[in-house]
Amino acid sequence: MAIELPIFEVKDIVGVVGAGTMGMSIAEVAAAAGHPVLLYDAKEGAASAALEQASMRMDRRVTRGRISSDERDAILARITVMYSLRDLEPCRLVIEAVVENLAIKQGLFQSLERLCGDSAILASNTSSLSITAIGAALKNPERLLGLHFFNPATVMRLVEVVSGLRTAPEVAASLHGLMNAWGKSPVFARSQPGFIVNRVARPFYAEALNLLQEGAAGVETMDAIYRDCGGFPMGPFELMDLIGLDVNFAVTNSVFESYFGDSRYRPSVLQKEMVDAGRMGRKSGEGFYVYASERKPPSARQMAPKPAPLSVRVVGDLGPASALLDLARESGLDMRQAEGSGYLVVDGVYLALSDGRSATTRAAEEGQSPLVLFDLALDYRKTPRIALTTVNGQADALARAAGFFQALGKSVSEVADLPGMLVMRSVCLLVNEAAMAVAHQLCSAVDLDTAMKLGVNYPLGPLEWGERIDLQRVANVVRNIHAAYGDDRYRLTPLLAGHALAGRKFTE
Ligand code: NAD
Repeated sequence: MAIELPIFEVKDIVGVVGAGTMGMSIAEVAAAAGHPVLLYDAKEGAASAALEQASMRMDRRVTRGRISSDERDAILARITVMYSLRDLEPCRLVIEAVVENLAIKQGLFQSLERLCGDSAILASNTSSLSITAIGAALKNPERLLGLHFFNPATVMRLVEVVSGLRTAPEVAASLHGLMNAWGKSPVFARSQPGFIVNRVARPFYAEALNLLQEGAAGVETMDAIYRDCGGFPMGPFELMDLIGLDVNFAVTNSVFESYFGDSRYRPSVLQKEMVDAGRMGRKSGEGFYVYASERKPPSARQMAPKPAPLSVRVVGDLGPASALLDLARESGLDMRQAEGSGYLVVDGVYLALSDGRSATTRAAEEGQSPLVLFDLALDYRKTPRIALTTVNGQADALARAAGFFQALGKSVSEVADLPGMLVMRSVCLLVNEAAMAVAHQLCSAVDLDTAMKLGVNYPLGPLEWGERIDLQRVANVVRNIHAAYGDDRYRLTPLLAGHALAGRKFTE
């Protein structure tokens, strides 16, 4: 059924059902944008209690000078607690943030559809249920969509505007506009498992867990490498501890099951064991770290100072690591240039950026010995740390490579010799997943990058990051990791392979 583009004005009443963590903050966002808000929760007293707590939070913001007392008063004055779902009848838009249960959400929307009439738009804040499946219970599924806010909705700018199979494009377009008017940064997504952020971020957790299981390094060293070299605001282990290992594990399971067991999303046995043991992260006092006030958090391991190199030969183009050459010159190192396939020779040691093969495999295949590999950094000039690995038993070569990076002012962390190292492996697999999401027409490349930057604070969107590394290099890394494990979870996305071959960009 064709429907007219719904136009919203600030006088339009917005209903919010469920006054928990998300519902209350969504109500605040709508009220801050100027709408009268009707807040309802099925649990007696829950909505009033939530409003009381929100008022106290706003008082603290007034004290800190973040908002004026007039703004606080105006926001609070616009929110009215309702004691029956029937009271939501005058709403033009109702956003639901109740328990994550398909039957409950379907029942709720059936009631809302009856109450609010044919012109109201109904939105679900579900993080994992299919909008298509929720809509299947409705008379007018074209008026239902997902508005996936992130926690806390008052702070996080991202909103995924999710269309089910029968959501009218006009409804999605209108709500995208409304979210902009509310000061948010909306992105369009189709209702596919995990939507954008919860799906594309899976390799960030999965690869860290897989690498930990294979003994890459300790969690504190790995987190430091992801933060310092990768530019991620938090390492994967501290982030999983913050999210809650049970919650993170449940999201992975949900995406895995929704894709009928596709190995790309296979959950981690190591993570399951932690959940089974009750090590949920911060909330249980122990996860990958122990949260006891008297315990000093462990620090990342780094190598002791080694002598600076006597000679450095640059063979060919170092690609994304080219900034190392300028740094080395500025540090006064004697650099000589030669033609070749892109590596350094530091006092007789071959030094190369990881290409997805382990040092052991690469040394055997290319005959470069002794060989030390270094990991990807977001910005080689700024990174305070570099991760190195080498063929087992080549401690002397590792020391000479470490001396080179230390002469550039970097601290050096050694990791085990595993395919793709840490940052290169994780980033390339994020790019691979992002390319698959675009291939599945989940969303546009630009929206995907925006979602990952705003939803999980990645320093770059995966697709622009991949282009910065060079898509051919990324595809090669993924192929090499796939070859090393023979596991289909690492299969290269055909769209990425095609873009790499054709020299095409995702973000153009
Ligand atoms: P919550 O448990 O904090 O709050 C849910 C509220 O809904 C409770 O107050 C409960 O009393 C009420 N409720 C339950 N059934 C109801 C019904 N039939 N009618 C009216 N009220 C009812 O949950 P939350 O964390 O705010 O999550 C709500 C929704 O938002 C879920 O779908 C969740 O997947 C999604 N979500 C959560 C987050 C997050 O980080 N917490 C982020 C994005 C999306």
